[in-house]
Amino acid sequence: MTPPQLKRILVAEDVRAISMRIAHVLKAHGYEVEVVKDGEECLNSVAANQPDLMILDLMMPKLNGVEVLKTLRANPETERLPVIVCTSKDFSTELKYVRDLGALDVIIKPFEPEVLARRVNDFFGVATTIGSEIQPESPAGPHYEPTLDTQRPHIRLWGTRGSIPVSGPQFAQHGGNTSCMEFAFGDERILFDAGSGLREAGLSFLKDGPRHIHLFITHTHWDHIQGFPFFTPIYVPGFEITVYGERGFGRNLESLLGGQLDRDYFPIQREDLRAKMNFVFLDENPVSIGGAKITREFAHHPGATVAYKIEHEGKSIAYVPDNEFLQGFLGDPKEVRPEDPIVMAQEPMIRFLKDVDVLLHEAQYPPDEYRKKIGWGHSNLANACALARLATVKKWIVLHHDPNHDDAFLHKKLNLTWQILKHMDHYVPVMHSYDGMVEFV
Ligand SMILES: [Zn+2]
Ligand SMILES: [Zn+2]
Repeated sequence: MTPPQLKRILVAEDVRAISMRIAHVLKAHGYEVEVVKDGEECLNSVAANQPDLMILDLMMPKLNGVEVLKTLRANPETERLPVIVCTSKDFSTELKYVRDLGALDVIIKPFEPEVLARRVNDFFGVATTIGSEIQPESPAGPHYEPTLDTQRPHIRLWGTRGSIPVSGPQFAQHGGNTSCMEFAFGDERILFDAGSGLREAGLSFLKDGPRHIHLFITHTHWDHIQGFPFFTPIYVPGFEITVYGERGFGRNLESLLGGQLDRDYFPIQREDLRAKMNFVFLDENPVSIGGAKITREFAHHPGATVAYKIEHEGKSIAYVPDNEFLQGFLGDPKEVRPEDPIVMAQEPMIRFLKDVDVLLHEAQYPPDEYRKKIGWGHSNLANACALARLATVKKWIVLHHDPNHDDAFLHKKLNLTWQILKHMDHYVPVMHSYDGMVEFV
């Protein structure tokens, strides 16, 4: 339906991309719009079409906006034509001049065309209705507009740093939170390790309300448990949290984690936990959670440390943040054979990781650094490459970054990883994890 009398607006603007957007929005608000692209055309159109309002750009060819305005004001027939000036020149003297020439309003570029439409509506006394928010014109046809689907099986890395959290611009890309990984599918949420990344994982669960969360601990070094007191769901009634740990951790699991809430360390005590807490020793193998099967194997790391493997809908993911593979080996990873005694000693782990779809495994030290860190419980990068080959994993995501390795260093280290794999004639997609990374499986 056409309104009885459309208000006519003349848009004088030489940049086509801008004039088209303005025209589109004004038309959508019910105005008749004409566009001109220089000062001369503008004056001709005013004479011929007698618009009700003009949108005038100051910077235009042939005759600029100020000259147009002066000409209009000098002619009795157009001296009262309402004009809104749009300009990217925000010099106060020029603006004052424009106002003295009777411009209704001045809008400084860049601006949203909707803002202009509101001013125009105000001028004509037309209410801008909420429903009149205009989307930019886009081509017809179906649009592909994906959003992250958290119901699909995926892993999310909440903390990818080893040893201690780090902070600062040099760590901005990879992040500074210590170990924490989530595996999620449908409504199931399974966490691995309780490093400082656990805090943000907990916050993410709050918005969906109480649920049962499973938390598997690889070992009880600080960087794998320090986030536990900051895991908000433990204080919220309705949540149920089941923590799983290896019997070989030594003391009981509850006091190993909950002990961090001792009065000497933390202001909130264990009595303040409001979630239903279960602490479970891993006697079952595998553990089944809603269609996912979780198995474990001992890793090569000081104290009792386990690696976990998740199998779900035909896919397998292994989480091995701390593992010194081939401890003390400094040779060429290309020369490593399954029958070598040093490799045979690691056979259970190689078998455990065989053909997994995604291996999350550390490679903490480049070979030169490793020489000084033998026995610290973390892999030589070259030896981790040998593991990826021996276990023929399909994809490798490197995690547990050293706190001394900033983003620039990690980029170089990843380049070195590609070079080592090339040298070994072994192709495997490899990437460095970062805090917040999501991988669909
Ligand atoms: Zn660690
Ligand atoms: Zn450790």
